[in-house]
Amino acid sequence: MTLDYTRKIDDLGRIVIPDNLRQNLGWQIGDTLSLYCIDGAIALCMVKVNRKQECVYCKNTAVKVRINEKDVCVTCLEKIMEMMP
Ligand SMILES: [Zn+2]
Repeated sequence: MTLDYTRKIDDLGRIVIPDNLRQNLGWQIGDTLSLYCIDGAIALCMVKVNRKQECVYCKNTAVKVRINEKDVCVTCLEKIMEMMP
């Protein structure tokens, strides 16, 4: 799924994540997100808690983010971000 949204940062440094995008990602009000800055881009990811996690790519157990229902470690996240245009 690739969606393209443009949002302005408000006076307090906030942006609004569109409701339909949050619904597609299963994000709800009050969920905790992590922000990773990689080469000038930001990855915004749901923080997962209370279950054993393992990176789907390298099996690292230091999983930090969840992308498309898959647990991913920071090292693999950086590799994914490098492949993005
Ligand atoms: Zn990994």
